[in-house]
Amino acid sequence: MTEHRSVEPNEDPVCGMTVDVAQARAKGLSATRDGHEYVFCGKGCFLEFRDDPDTYLAPDYHPSM
Ligand SMILES: [Zn+2]
Repeated sequence: MTEHRSVEPNEDPVCGMTVDVAQARAKGLSATRDGHEYVFCGKGCFLEFRDDPDTYLAPDYHPSM
């Protein structure tokens, strides 16, 4: 199993922004991976994550805008 860094439930794992979870879900900007739900500030981050989740969940990845 791949090791993942811990991401806050309301944290966008791609850019590190704090996200309103309910709004993100309503807009379809959430993704579940290994039983953990991730939310995103916008479609750009959502698509980046969907294409390559392991990059953004790697322990040495540091989110930046
Ligand atoms: Zn973002």
